[in-house]
Amino acid sequence: MSGTELRKTGIGVVGDVPWGTHFFLFHETKDDLLDTLVPYFKAGLEAKELCIWVISGPLTENEVRYALGKDIPDLDAYLEDQSMQILQGREWYMSGEDLDLEKVTREWNQKLEFALTRGYAGLRLSAGTAWLEKRHWKEFLDYEGEVNRSIGEQPMLALCTYPLIGSAAAEILDVTRTHQFAVVRRNGRWEVVETSELKQAKREIQKLNDELEQRVIERTRQLTVANQELKQQSAERQHAEDALGAARAELAHATRVTVMGEMVASIAHEVTQPLTGIVTNGNACLNWLRSTTPNMDRAQGAVERIIRDGERASEVIHEIRSLVKKTPPQKILLDINDLIRKTITLAAGEIARSQVQLETDLASDISEITGDRVQLQQALLNLIVNAIEAMGAVKERPRRLLIRSARHEEPFGVVVTVSDSGVGLDPDKRNRVFDAFFTTKPQGLGMGLSICRTIISTHGGRLSARSNANHGATFEFTLPARTGEIESSEANANRVAATA
Ligand code: ADP
Repeated sequence: MSGTELRKTGIGVVGDVPWGTHFFLFHETKDDLLDTLVPYFKAGLEAKELCIWVISGPLTENEVRYALGKDIPDLDAYLEDQSMQILQGREWYMSGEDLDLEKVTREWNQKLEFALTRGYAGLRLSAGTAWLEKRHWKEFLDYEGEVNRSIGEQPMLALCTYPLIGSAAAEILDVTRTHQFAVVRRNGRWEVVETSELKQAKREIQKLNDELEQRVIERTRQLTVANQELKQQSAERQHAEDALGAARAELAHATRVTVMGEMVASIAHEVTQPLTGIVTNGNACLNWLRSTTPNMDRAQGAVERIIRDGERASEVIHEIRSLVKKTPPQKILLDINDLIRKTITLAAGEIARSQVQLETDLASDISEITGDRVQLQQALLNLIVNAIEAMGAVKERPRRLLIRSARHEEPFGVVVTVSDSGVGLDPDKRNRVFDAFFTTKPQGLGMGLSICRTIISTHGGRLSARSNANHGATFEFTLPARTGEIESSEANANRVAATA
């Protein structure tokens, strides 16, 4: 069939059909023919098709022109430019006394060519067969069969009309067989009667559709199952990731508590020292007040020192609590120098006890970062404690701990270095210190640096280690400058705390 474009037949019961449709009409009266063929050609002319009506009895050419003219106002123009052609059946099909179907086939082809070269959409024809004699019946039916087989390839519609009166049952069956469907008047109403060929074709199309639908249903089912499996896998994976995250957090907490435990003596000292100061200054204050001439100025000085020591002790306790308490991670705005100073407060006792000289070199032009305060403090504290431990055995040179902060240009952010003058890292160790459970210490767990690296990388930074030129090692981490995603109330609270 040429294309899937539908053509209006103009015949109500038939509706639209594709090009290549070959159907027929059994007629009894002239009105049967005019009722159907006038709207059929009117629709064709309106759709810019070349229209050819091969007439035969009982209609005459004048009757046809009159009937067409009533419904088609521009009929004369159509006849004039040959868009509508009215031909005589007998002359069209016969040469003398003989049926000349070769000539007919040739001429139909010429008409089609004419239609296409003149820019018509296609060829619409109707041919009456009332002139047909019994002796030509078989030959004509073979021709109709051939038309039926070949028309599907062409932009053509063909409606053949057969007189019902005088047709034998066998002839009716012959006509039915050689067309796609019939238009018949039954009980005064037009109906479409499908031939077995059309029924068969429709059944096959229906079957194909059913199969296709079945395949679509099956495929949809398979996809739904696959989708559910994927969803389940993804849920399981999420579950495993959550469990891993929770385990990591537990481990980080455990190591934090362990480090604090190891430092308990120094930390206790850090708290005891101001407490001793408080007691001493309290006693002094009492003495100044109990004196016969109370010295208010000195008493006030003692109280001020009490307050200062109290604040120092409470700051240490606050830091310890925040590191030991289990809290979910919170990303907030942080001043890295402030974080370094607070961590040093915690380690100060250990630094002093281990006779380590602490130097700090904190840059003032660095930007704020976003991160979890407890986690970053843990990472830094770990590096400091490791540095102190690496210098434990050093006797012949000063034990120096240098903590620096600086701008980091590429990628833009901050860089923090912790350098010591300890035993240093030999090349073999340097690659393994970040492995979980790698330790060279008798009581070591080997988790500290592995956790540090995880903490820094979840903050978008990098932690690395190198040996110093002279002695000792340097651990260095970078952190990106602040990003937009911060929990604002926390951030504000933190800013207030940092500036207070
Ligand atoms: P732990 O401290 O329990 O051993 P870490 O993961 O913190 O676990 O450290 C792993 C190992 O890395 C240490 O045992 C030590 O051998 C080495 N190391 C860490 N920091 C330093 C340092 N500053 N100097 C030399 N070696 C270090």
